[in-house]
Amino acid sequence: MFNELFELPEELLTIKVEDLFDFLQKPTLIHLQGTNEQPLFICTLLHGNETTGFLALQKLLAKYKTQALPRSLSIFIGNPEAAKENQRRLERQTDFNRIWPGTHEDFLAEAHMMKNITDIMRQKNVFASIDIHNNTGRNPHYACITTLDKQYMSLAGMFSNTVVYFTTPKGVQSAAFAELCPAVTLECGMSGEAGSVDHAYSYIDKCLGLESIPRDVPEHIKLFHTVARVTIPDSYSFGFSDDATINLYPEIEMYNFCELEPGKAFAYIEPESTAYLLVYDDHEREVGRDYFEYKDNEIVLRKPVMPSMLTVNTTAIRQDCLCYLMEKIKLPEDD
Ligand SMILES: [Zn+2]
Repeated sequence: MFNELFELPEELLTIKVEDLFDFLQKPTLIHLQGTNEQPLFICTLLHGNETTGFLALQKLLAKYKTQALPRSLSIFIGNPEAAKENQRRLERQTDFNRIWPGTHEDFLAEAHMMKNITDIMRQKNVFASIDIHNNTGRNPHYACITTLDKQYMSLAGMFSNTVVYFTTPKGVQSAAFAELCPAVTLECGMSGEAGSVDHAYSYIDKCLGLESIPRDVPEHIKLFHTVARVTIPDSYSFGFSDDATINLYPEIEMYNFCELEPGKAFAYIEPESTAYLLVYDDHEREVGRDYFEYKDNEIVLRKPVMPSMLTVNTTAIRQDCLCYLMEKIKLPEDD
């Protein structure tokens, strides 16, 4: 179901992301030997249209073409088939970042593949894990963790001052690897943005050079906790103009990582319609009425929150969600 390689095919240094599938044919795990044998794990293209991670790896591999890697490196190229079509996932595929150990869908063949990858890296005593993503909307670069452990926060803080702690959705790569080693998900802005590849590249290179992961949490980090996930019921049409049942306001994309006050409007709904947004908390309870109210044909915020991942990309909204809602949390006290 996936390739496992023990040396780097020369072609990967220059191949275009959309040509990866024709070359590899399958998801591919590549192990490269470094001076320190405990491997750093890098996961990329779990979502096929999020290219920053792969481009950063190409830059890194070019650097180490003529010198030894300071530490072994294991690279997983997750969904080259979707990358060929420049899509998050193909219509018939499941989301490749919801099927890692801990998933609700462990009966799927793809979930079995992700369990195999996890088992291989457990046997190799993986040093740290970095899963690289892009957003479809305007967001700052940030790192996500699923455990409030100092080494995990420290690994995240090396990438960005903005750190997001989350425990749902289930079955994400970083949560599975958090059982084995310090693990982060990087959100590197939108695919193709200038500077993102360099940012991811220098971060991976810095991690490769670490003797160990520091245990002191950088004081500068701002820590947020994802408290809810917002989706649009499948039964309602939606869009960003004025001809659907739920008409989202395009400016919501500017609200990411902004502290919003109650009364902020997200959408205009068709008169006479009782359309609503679904909001799920960390325990998968529907809590929409806690966060939104419906007045004068508008959907407005009911309490102060900070959204992330708001986008105007309607496919991403259908395939994933409209946004996440977050609260700021204090850094754990020193012990
Ligand atoms: Zn992604």
